[in-house]
Amino acid sequence: MDDVEGRLNVARERIAAAEREAGRPAGSVTLVAVSKTFDREHILPAIHAGQRVFGENRVQEAAQKWPALKADHPDIELHLIGPLQSNKAREAVALFDVIETVDRDKIAAELAKEIKRQGRQPHLYVQVNTGSEPQKAGIDPREAVAFVTRCRTVHDLTIDGLMCIPPADENPGPHFALLEKLAREAGVERLSMGMSGDYEVAVRFGATSVRVGSAIFGSR
Ligand SMILES: *Cc1c(COP(=O)(O)O)cnc(C)c1O
Repeated sequence: MDDVEGRLNVARERIAAAEREAGRPAGSVTLVAVSKTFDREHILPAIHAGQRVFGENRVQEAAQKWPALKADHPDIELHLIGPLQSNKAREAVALFDVIETVDRDKIAAELAKEIKRQGRQPHLYVQVNTGSEPQKAGIDPREAVAFVTRCRTVHDLTIDGLMCIPPADENPGPHFALLEKLAREAGVERLSMGMSGDYEVAVRFGATSVRVGSAIFGSR
């Protein structure tokens, strides 16, 4: 609440500067404001400052906060950026406009079923575990292109992008470069990469959206 608008504007300016420096068109990068753990009182100032794209990492938390906010602001676009359990696919398809964390066949099959059942079609990204970290969600990079193909051919899903969370203790550049290469190979256009600490780097490597939480809402 303490100056969410000011910090939002700083992030917007930095993204614009990074776009210019990278020779990319103005507005080619979407800022996803990550509001996880923050309540309505923190989110409203961002909405009033014109922010319309938000990210949440838990279906349950989002289901408590967002239906009312979305009813008041129908142009809000909500992204799921956290792991998805197959028993939450129904709720996720009903609530989110973009699901960034498709990472296994079981989830792909559940999402396909719910999309047909509900007639609602969120955009879907495949999460890639670029660092092959055992504890982290996401498909292994060596299997990513084949998985995108399976999503299309086996599950009849449209995949629009890839997403990654680089290992916390590594230089993110090579991970962003890997995700960009995999996206080209898989034939998808959107790249969700970059967080509070490295979103300008991600813009340089071709991010089409960056997920920024603490730099806007404060520390969690
Ligand atoms: C929390 C989270 C973010 C935002 O992280 P900050 O460092 O606060 O910007 C981005 N992406 C994912 C997947 C997250 O869970």
